[in-house]
Amino acid sequence: MTAERTIRTPRDLVEAGLIGREREEAISRVTASYAVAISPAISRLVDRDDPDDPIARQFVPDMAELAVMPEERADPIGDSTHSPVTGIVHRYPDRVLLKAVHVCPVYCRFCFRREMVGPEGLGTLTPAELDRAIAYISGHQEIWEVILTGGDPLVLSPRRLGEIMERLAKIEHVKVVRFHTRVPVVEPDRVDAPLIAALKGSGKATYVALHANHPRELTVAARAAAARLIDAGIVMVSQSVLLKGVNDDPDILAELMRAFVETRVKPYYLHHPDLAPGTSHFRLSIEEGQALVASLRGRVSGLCQPAYILDIPGGHGKSVVSASSIEAEGGGCYTVTDFRGNRHAYPPKG
Ligand SMILES: *Cc1c(COP(=O)(O)O)cnc(C)c1O
Ligand code: SF4
Repeated sequence: MTAERTIRTPRDLVEAGLIGREREEAISRVTASYAVAISPAISRLVDRDDPDDPIARQFVPDMAELAVMPEERADPIGDSTHSPVTGIVHRYPDRVLLKAVHVCPVYCRFCFRREMVGPEGLGTLTPAELDRAIAYISGHQEIWEVILTGGDPLVLSPRRLGEIMERLAKIEHVKVVRFHTRVPVVEPDRVDAPLIAALKGSGKATYVALHANHPRELTVAARAAAARLIDAGIVMVSQSVLLKGVNDDPDILAELMRAFVETRVKPYYLHHPDLAPGTSHFRLSIEEGQALVASLRGRVSGLCQPAYILDIPGGHGKSVVSASSIEAEGGGCYTVTDFRGNRHAYPPKG
């Protein structure tokens, strides 16, 4: 196989040894509905001898994706209910999403925007659409932060990103620019000096939220790419999805959060998987998620603790869903549970 090309078709998957030849035709039913892309860096990470490989599970299409559950929906987090102009999602007063591009360097099988991203998706904003999106941001004084997401904004060329940043630079009320990306993990070589200069081009406080779900994704090359961003003055935070068969294990989750912290990427969000079509094989229950997140508290440093988040279907935004460790007993008294599961009165009695 040619190692340095992104895998995009059932035939490519066979040639890369990611599916057996006998599955090529069946898998083409999945790829007819949902885009496939597996970058060379990710293909190299897959353990082809492990039928349950957690990297393969995230990126190699599976027949289970054809099972769409009644509770699943095309727009699981309700982006469309808060989109005043194409490319903008304005759900919270002080921040907007700017979706400049709808392609990604890899396609995650559990993607919450899987009906919108892909080479056949909405593509890149046209110049006129981008003008309207920028005009919207500049016309709304309350917008303090612009979050570039998508799609993966880091697939844009440094020149195009730089142009967008120059336009944001001129908007006085925008103080923070954040990018959500998988690029440092899936295409680490793309993080070069021109790209970093473009990301910083707004002159605002610049944050990069890195999406990774398994500690093996934080390779030497990925850690080096993150270090280049951080050493250039960009603050990095993490974003992961809690996924059955990938990271639904206390040891793996702890190792993932430690890998982020070792890389100077502060754990930010651990998302409960969204109700995207054909993703039920990735979902665990909220109770299972709460127990896993609670297990981190006693096991690893406070730096390694992400917030466990559910995006409420219908566009109602994010909510922290970690299990509460405190119960009200009335009269200003509480019972609080420590990391070992022992219960204590607060304030202490006697
Ligand atoms: C997730 C999201 C954000 C960012 O939320 P934070 O809690 O600030 O990370 C902003 N806008 C929309 C529409 C979102 O879905
Ligand atoms: S990188 Fe993000 S937007 Fe792209 S496929 Fe993965 S989850 Fe979806």
